[in-house]
Amino acid sequence: MTHLRRIDVAPGETLDDYAALAQLAAPVTELRNEARELVARLGDRTVWLVNSTARGGGVAEMLPPIVRMLRDLGVRAEWAAIGSPDPAFFVLTKHLHNLIHGVGEAELGSAERALFEWVNRANAEALAPLLRPGDVLVVHDPQPLPLACMLRQLVPLTTVWRCHIGVDLSNAATEAAWRFLDPYLDAYDRAVFSAPEYIPGTLAGRASVIRPAIDPLASKNRELPLRDTVEVLCNGGMIPCPGPTVSAPFSARVQRLGPDGMFAPADAESFGLLTRPIVTQISRWDRLKGFLPLMQAFARFRCSLGPSAAEPGTAARRLELTRLVLAGPNPDAVQDDPEAVEVLAELRSAYLRLSAAAQADIAVLSVPLHVPDQSALIINALQRASTIVVQNSLREGFGLTITEAMWKGVPVLSNSRACGPRQQIRDGIDGMLVRDPENELELEQALAAMLADPVRLATWGRAAQRRVYDDFLVFRQLREWGRLFLTIVPG
Ligand code: UDP
Repeated sequence: MTHLRRIDVAPGETLDDYAALAQLAAPVTELRNEARELVARLGDRTVWLVNSTARGGGVAEMLPPIVRMLRDLGVRAEWAAIGSPDPAFFVLTKHLHNLIHGVGEAELGSAERALFEWVNRANAEALAPLLRPGDVLVVHDPQPLPLACMLRQLVPLTTVWRCHIGVDLSNAATEAAWRFLDPYLDAYDRAVFSAPEYIPGTLAGRASVIRPAIDPLASKNRELPLRDTVEVLCNGGMIPCPGPTVSAPFSARVQRLGPDGMFAPADAESFGLLTRPIVTQISRWDRLKGFLPLMQAFARFRCSLGPSAAEPGTAARRLELTRLVLAGPNPDAVQDDPEAVEVLAELRSAYLRLSAAAQADIAVLSVPLHVPDQSALIINALQRASTIVVQNSLREGFGLTITEAMWKGVPVLSNSRACGPRQQIRDGIDGMLVRDPENELELEQALAAMLADPVRLATWGRAAQRRVYDDFLVFRQLREWGRLFLTIVPG
């Protein structure tokens, strides 16, 4: 009755591998020094990380390196993902996700609660035999929230709820979400949020802030030399191959939305990834990611340039050549996001209404997810091929796509209305923040201003990389987790 899955985290890079890189040696040493006390405290307890999906989205992205590094430090760590035999569970949890972000119909009744608890109980029963008294259970996001209360009746545990989403406002939607979740919160020793603004009143005094982080050696983030970037773009199907490559084409390749409304191989015709200025947004197909206003703003931007044939080397030529890439996962692949197909359909309709010239300048890409390493390399290469990365989210818990781009020295355009982007981007220092992600004119002007000044873009790119190095790498995050565990795991 359950699809709880224990997810294998294969051995990968060791801390020694990270430390072998000149710029990562110091953060690894700091982590090792600080972890000694934690390793002694945890002894043979296992730290269980539980979420609701093995792939797709920021959480699934972050868990493998955390498990690997904890193990490398000498901590037992495991990852499990809950599942549901009934897809209605994920419709409900997606609704909850939106409500926590302040959006949606604030109606949640006893039928929803029954479904929420029924699915979680089945998962709790499957997880219970794997747990030993004293283990540490870290539950990620609302989907598996009831687990702590259900499991603590069976086995003594230290429990933490890690909520990756949140919004810095309170309205009927957020209140409905927190009312619904409230009965399950007491079973946690501590809750963790990505920003102080996200901590709901009911958890005041029982919550900490740990900002998310990225793994600099993950396939998504590791340095890609020029040849590798070109090879990934070829083998992933994003550019026509300029010549033979050593490695084979990927088993699934990127598809591009065509003027006939169908997805077809993206490399049938070059859209200029390696030569033109490229503005990219990569996200799940979620309405709150703001794909639609971005596409419309870009279409306006193109339109405002007119049909001129600008002189080579001029600012006008740079603007004229710029193309927009909107990329997201193949919607069939993300089981816990039933909204994706709908959002992509909306985007498709809007795309089909554009002029042929605007359609040629906008590439809507569907990125295959089923070979995670290939998918990560595709995203990595796409971010590196970008002049500017945009994250036009209306709401954003943190926005790992922002962190990933900044780490690659690519300046990000986002907005100050969403809380996540303003935790990361310092407007005018390492990127740009507009006020309103739905204001197409403001977006259009920001894009034009950024593209017009390549020297400033390069300065912002360097500052962006430094910012991630200082604040958003996985080593800093693990040290904060360690400090938190020391306050709640009995000595
Ligand atoms: N991502 C991906 N393929 C896609 C779209 C997104 O691998 O087609 C990744 C992206 O690189 C990032 C994560 O999914 O690592 C999204 O995390 P973020 O915090 O930006 O948003 P979330 O999906 O958690 O709301």
